[in-house]
Amino acid sequence: MKDDCIFCKIAAGEIPAATLYEDDDFRVILDLGPASRGHALILPKEHYADISEISEETAGKVLPLAKKMCAAMKAALGCAGINLVQNNGEAAGQTVRHFHMHIIPRYENGPRIVAWEPGDLSDDDKIQIVEAVRAQIQG
Ligand code: 5GP
Ligand code: ZN
Repeated sequence: MKDDCIFCKIAAGEIPAATLYEDDDFRVILDLGPASRGHALILPKEHYADISEISEETAGKVLPLAKKMCAAMKAALGCAGINLVQNNGEAAGQTVRHFHMHIIPRYENGPRIVAWEPGDLSDDDKIQIVEAVRAQIQG
């Protein structure tokens, strides 16, 4: 647990939050500034700033929990779709540096929430990106 981290305190139950689910590893809470009705956050109880720090073990539990939450929220809230959003780093819009996954219910005729203008992928870029990333993964 990191002393100055608000999500560590919320995950540990030291600061109250509207909790939808809790187990030994996670607390799932309602976001205080929801993008839509039911917007929730999956918080690991251990502190990891972002995906670059999270343990493989915890990472491996996040998606199964998201799946469980999505099913419960869809049934409970009657949403038509759900976005999973997970920001890493200030440049990506992360404002709280404790790994978390957003679960954002979407409703018929609701506002655009997670959207971007599609760009172009040039042939040169395609080759460069594929080579650079594959080289990193292969080591
Ligand atoms: P980020 O931009 O880091 O991906 O998302 C942080 C999210 O945490 C935001 O959606 C924000 O509304 C939410 N948030 C920030 N502080 C608190 C808090 O103290 N309690 C709760 N429940 N949500 C918070
Ligand atoms: Zn933390």
